[in-house]
Amino acid sequence: MSMKIYNTLSRRKEEFVPIEEGKVRMYVCGPTVYNLIHIGNARPMIVFDTVRRYMEHKGLEVNYVSNFTDVDDKIIKKAAEEGVDPSVISMRYIEECRKDMEAMNVKPATTHPLATQEIDGMIEMIGVLIHKGYAYVAEDGTVYFRTRRFSEYGKLSHKNLDDLRGGSRSLLVSGEDQKEDGLDFVLWKPKKEGEPYWESPWCDGRPGWHIECSVMSKRYLGEEIDIHAGGEDLIFPHHENEIAQSEAANGKTFARYWMHNAFLNIDNRKMSKSLGNFFTVRDISEKYDLQVLRFFMLSAHYRSPLNFSADLMDAARNGYERIVTCVDHLKFLADRAPKKEMTDAETALCREAEGFEAQFDAAMDDDFNTADAISAIFELVKFANTHAKEDSTGAFLENLKQKIITLADICGLITQRQEEALDEDVQRLIQERAQAKKEKDFARADKIREELLLRGIALKDTREGVKIERVQPGRRENV
Ligand code: AMP
Ligand code: ZN
Repeated sequence: MSMKIYNTLSRRKEEFVPIEEGKVRMYVCGPTVYNLIHIGNARPMIVFDTVRRYMEHKGLEVNYVSNFTDVDDKIIKKAAEEGVDPSVISMRYIEECRKDMEAMNVKPATTHPLATQEIDGMIEMIGVLIHKGYAYVAEDGTVYFRTRRFSEYGKLSHKNLDDLRGGSRSLLVSGEDQKEDGLDFVLWKPKKEGEPYWESPWCDGRPGWHIECSVMSKRYLGEEIDIHAGGEDLIFPHHENEIAQSEAANGKTFARYWMHNAFLNIDNRKMSKSLGNFFTVRDISEKYDLQVLRFFMLSAHYRSPLNFSADLMDAARNGYERIVTCVDHLKFLADRAPKKEMTDAETALCREAEGFEAQFDAAMDDDFNTADAISAIFELVKFANTHAKEDSTGAFLENLKQKIITLADICGLITQRQEEALDEDVQRLIQERAQAKKEKDFARADKIREELLLRGIALKDTREGVKIERVQPGRRENV
């Protein structure tokens, strides 16, 4: 097995070699929980969940950690607006985020740490940084990281410290007059009236944003990890600062592979509430099955910008349904097929179908090219549609079905739901219709077809036999 990952650090694809054989330590920066997650936030969730699923499929044990940032200016502002404690806001949106993740079939992380539960660890790491001379306390108790002291600063974002100096104004925060250098960033800041705070050796206050990930990554995964990931906006300054903090404090390489997804835009414009082109995952769920959103996200390579539009979502729906319908049809045929061993011709076809599995793996091994991986699933679907016949053996049909389900499942695409739809009642009706047709009772056959349509099952008589398709329940027109 050879898996290649594009590493932002080296700007090239590198072979993935985990620190510990067979195990992967992976950290993905999670959302700040002050609102329902938007479809931009959903991109890293879906992309890195798929990376995890593929690695697990390859037999690797993945320890996957993703935080919730539950102390932040936006959370505090919203809490003040509603007149509640900030924890009410963060708990509410963590709960909602978990629901959205489940609906998108994103597996829960091995650990989802919360920043507010890790303050002790942050105080400890800040203490180490001060002790080692990488941080200092200003007069008002603010603790700053001494950026220039970390000689490798800029190695991830490929920025040069002197270039940053020119543009360092944007990095300045309140109280910056107390900084030794414009590039220094906050590790701990004093409390403000009405805000949550914790006691510390320097002042009552709260942590800067970056320190939480360094601390949580160390606590749950160790000082050196395999993969650190997030959206590309996090490369600078967030991830650059995480590297500075962790490597200065621990004296070890923080993460070996840095993965970043490109941004999701809407109708070719940056997603923005004020421009009115902004969707939460919940908004999308009212119009589409979230499996369609997942399919849409994976239809592009994660490092390519992705444009969201109604047309592209409709195309994604068609694509997703093509896979589901095929699985459905294979099950339908398999349930009726003779339980015989595969014929020699079928064995040869199964071997041929393995080529699509290899194609899928090759795409995923090449920096998780899900766009090509999905094409391989489509080719397998086409192959199955061509070769699955009414007189195929059950073993052959099962084999093809399982192959498709396995690949779809690596992408987190659910195909089994459709199997459940074919409950016993529906099965019985399909059989009754076949019987009615045999007896040339066409009125009865049509009536059953109508009844099935009301339940969202359309029957198509094709040359290869009856095929079923899921449709909007209640649709009555002929198909
Ligand atoms: P935030 O809550 O802003 O810290 O974002 C959580 C995660 O979502 C981070 O990994 C961001 O990089 C990512 N993210 C935010 N907006 C987008 C977007 N429009 N496209 C892709 N990823 C995004
Ligand atoms: Zn982070």
